Amino acid sequence: MEWETVIGLEIHAQLSTKSKIFSGASTQFGAEPNTQACGIDLGLPGVLPVLNQEAVIMAIKFALGANAEVARKSVFARKNYFYPDLPKGYQISQYELPVVKKGYIDIQLDEGTTKRIHITRAHLEEDAGKSLHEDFHGLSGIDLNRAGTPLLEIVSEPDMRSAKEAVAYLKAIHTLVRYLEICDGNMQEGSFRCDANVSVRPKGESKFGTRTELKNINSFRFVERAINYEVERQINVIESGGKIVQETRLYDPNKNETRSMRSKEEANDYRYFPDPDLLPLVISDEIIEQVKKILPELPQQKLSRFMEQYHLSAYDASILISSKAMANYYESVVKESGDQPKVAANWVISELLGALNKAGLEIEESPISSAQLGKLVSRIADNTISGKIAKTIFEALWNREGEVDDIIEKRGLKQVTDRGAIEKLIDEIIAANPQQVADYRSGKDKLFGYFVGQAMKLSGGKVNPQQLNEILKKKLQA
Ligand code: ADP
Ligand code: MG
Repeated sequence: MEWETVIGLEIHAQLSTKSKIFSGASTQFGAEPNTQACGIDLGLPGVLPVLNQEAVIMAIKFALGANAEVARKSVFARKNYFYPDLPKGYQISQYELPVVKKGYIDIQLDEGTTKRIHITRAHLEEDAGKSLHEDFHGLSGIDLNRAGTPLLEIVSEPDMRSAKEAVAYLKAIHTLVRYLEICDGNMQEGSFRCDANVSVRPKGESKFGTRTELKNINSFRFVERAINYEVERQINVIESGGKIVQETRLYDPNKNETRSMRSKEEANDYRYFPDPDLLPLVISDEIIEQVKKILPELPQQKLSRFMEQYHLSAYDASILISSKAMANYYESVVKESGDQPKVAANWVISELLGALNKAGLEIEESPISSAQLGKLVSRIADNTISGKIAKTIFEALWNREGEVDDIIEKRGLKQVTDRGAIEKLIDEIIAANPQQVADYRSGKDKLFGYFVGQAMKLSGGKVNPQQLNEILKKKLQA
């Protein structure tokens, strides 16, 4: 039996406001435990929450960036549950009337095709505190610094059909929120995390299967692995005659498996009701217009521009726009390269990103500056060096051995383009290899590569390849 996977994601993006969503307490990460929660965050008697306008503006930015509708009126609700890291006994969230309604985002798939993923809603809510289980013997610590930190929860339609698509969507949202500067996207610190809802159904079936929810996954790699594991588990259960129960599961990256956390029957009844301390949130057209004016160039717009202006494929462009820093780096390489956008894209994507990946570095930490890489590309374009020698120089740049032209000079890597010199070299090779020359002339065409190899070897790879080919052909015909 063939199975189809169905995935919907709930993404929590921590909004980068300076203060909390309903209080003036700081949201700074990494402070001493319990130094940044105030009476409002703790829900002490007699306090009143006041909505942070900046969080609302960020939600509007998201709506505009995700082709979504801004609700003119939305409502904050209390979601009641008991947990040690939630001293108030309820979380303020939005329920029936979220601030962001229906939107979509197009994701770029490997094969250069795009797919539209629909966004059901996005709502504003406050985060809870944190339970700390390490560093304590037989006890748990509670750090309430995170209580009241603003979150935007972005809920997708069940539109994704593979773990790969889910990761592509998650990355697209990650890129978008960072472009909009509404979330720092730091997954290690938990500022960007997701729950994956997963089900399977026989291929061709139109009804969805029963889903499970994988909680709080905080890396792209783990999302892919967790979903793949869960899909296989579900297929195994069904094929051996069992049934999937709707439940919440936890992914354990160390064991690469998912474990049941709680079933839907045990799930909380949150007894939602509108928060009597907060007025409905009303957003005017004027505010939306003002936010539109401060919107930066969006990932999708940059993608189209890169494809058009630099004649790049959708796939290459999608890599280069994946963060603003990456896009800026690329554009500055192009500027230095003497109008070589395609060669520049190749060097950034294959060489630089390859090396950065291997070293575990971000583009911002690249040992090679965009100006240096641009200069390197320009030296290939103006025939000072060959593409092959450029790789040697790339390595030298990586090891911070200096500037491109100095390295070429110091190491004597300049390409040989002097016709006389190349002719002399070829004459020597022909004289030294009479047998090969005779064989070539009697029809063994393949030997051409042998002569090219000899020339490269004797010149240390420095002969201009086009000139070499041309002159060699002529001389061998004689
Ligand atoms: P809950 O509040 O119980 O988590 P939601 O209605 O908010 O439920 O849905 C959560 C997510 O589950 C959404 O992203 C939705 O796309 C996804 N989803 C719903 N049904 C399925 C299904 N059968 N398979 C996979 N994902 C699903
Ligand atoms: Mg859910």
